[in-house]
Amino acid sequence: EPRPAPAASRGVISRGRCKGEGSLGEPDLLSELGRGAPPLHCCVLQMQTNEDLIGRLAASVCTELRLAPREVCQAAVQLFEKDMVSAWARSVLRPAEICGLLVGTSCGHWDIFSAWNVTLPDTPKPPPVPPTPPPPSAPTARLLFLTDLHWDQAYTPGSDPACKEPLCCRGGYWGEYSKCDLPLHTIENLLQHLARAPPFQLVYWTGDLPAHNVWQQSRADQLRALRTLTALLRKHLAPLPVYPAVGNHEAVPVNGFPPPYVQGNQSSAWLYHAMADAWQEWLPPPALETLSWCLP
Ligand SMILES: [Zn+2]
Repeated sequence: EPRPAPAASRGVISRGRCKGEGSLGEPDLLSELGRGAPPLHCCVLQMQTNEDLIGRLAASVCTELRLAPREVCQAAVQLFEKDMVSAWARSVLRPAEICGLLVGTSCGHWDIFSAWNVTLPDTPKPPPVPPTPPPPSAPTARLLFLTDLHWDQAYTPGSDPACKEPLCCRGGYWGEYSKCDLPLHTIENLLQHLARAPPFQLVYWTGDLPAHNVWQQSRADQLRALRTLTALLRKHLAPLPVYPAVGNHEAVPVNGFPPPYVQGNQSSAWLYHAMADAWQEWLPPPALETLSWCLP
């Protein structure tokens, strides 16, 4: 077990002891991590007062390695910083292990199998049952499957599609074959077309409503996308039943879906509440319950 680093003074991630008195103030989580794990792993990565420093470091690495333009790097780091640091702080990985995972063996060692100790239930695996395809005479249904609409709220027809940002090409009136997402009128035109198509029995709508400008999104942006597109589908496809699902782009930051034990402002409640509200006409009560399973 490595000596605890003088983290606060050096501004690096340190490894705290699992005593429940850490700066996170989460004794339950700490003891959960400790339970069933060897004492060596009864530790979490703890942040001291260095979130800002890590953010500045990440932004400059991003810029120096030219992963994106400076403004994109800074905005993205700002957006992801809090969740990243929280996840690291809750992680059972030690600094050397994180370094080995992120940077490679030159900087540390990480073995994905070393810390896992999973107790499986004492139930034999049931024999696999091969699926039986329906007979050719079985009734059929016509379904509409919508996904990844990716509405770009800032789409401006006629602006220059050639840009250095990961998304900014807002070129042709209907869209652009480039780093582009869709303007709202293209999505509406699609729905108008579908409303006149041969009838569907139901709609599957599997998410990813916002655009790919993930470094500049806010919760308000995502909720506007959710409510605007839900209203648009209802307007053009009603009374068809729509079965929506959550896409990875719905969260802020993108892909940020904290587990249910994350409560408070950092939880996913803002999103799941809004979805349960927007989709209550479409989803039956058990599905709405599933959607909000982790909500207080
Ligand atoms: Zn997508």
